[in-house]
Amino acid sequence: MSWQLWFDRWAVTKGGPGSGHWGHAGRPGHHGGSAPGGGKHAAPEAYAAATGGVALPKLQVTDKKLKNVVTSTLQGLPSEHVGLLSGVSEEDLGKGIVGYASYSTGSIVLNPREGVGQGEIVHEVGHFVQMKGVSNDVRRDIYGLYTDAVREAGLTPGDIASHSWYGSDAPKGFPTGYAATNVAEFFAESYRLYVTDPGALKSASSEIYSYLKEQVFKGKEY
Ligand SMILES: [Zn+2]
Repeated sequence: MSWQLWFDRWAVTKGGPGSGHWGHAGRPGHHGGSAPGGGKHAAPEAYAAATGGVALPKLQVTDKKLKNVVTSTLQGLPSEHVGLLSGVSEEDLGKGIVGYASYSTGSIVLNPREGVGQGEIVHEVGHFVQMKGVSNDVRRDIYGLYTDAVREAGLTPGDIASHSWYGSDAPKGFPTGYAATNVAEFFAESYRLYVTDPGALKSASSEIYSYLKEQVFKGKEY
């Protein structure tokens, strides 16, 4: 399947049903937007962080607690991943929605009402890494890892589509239940665990862990 076709299919699935979710449920249209390399996002307005050496994107966050967790989380990630973001902003998204990745603006939008933690921020950065931070070959490999996991867990595409995976137990070989939703959430959840709970990712799938270590994190471990 071509990358564009894959992207289109995936973007369509984003409008599907879901509950709660720290991402995108109920907000179709915010999670698709421009194709990779489409040039629709604003130029990064990065500036060097006072500490840490990772250039942070523009932070339009007034909530102090949220600003602290965003800053410390981004400073812990590879600078080339953080550099994919044009900004982080806050918005009251209503109850149960923690944030989403806006591909049209290149920014992460977080809900200060929802007690956003490190994991949610890392998850959203993961979406940008998959979209813009890896080669087409790596993106294809990730799709392969996802489809292998689906097959090995004994799931069918119909099972995947008909189930609401948020909060579900992880099928065998998946980092989390939510990761079964589609390949984008599979990657974002794997990326999140790689950083925040590497032991859990290793025990879910040493193959996914090793692949991320080599191809996405260039050997860096947490
Ligand atoms: Zn997500």
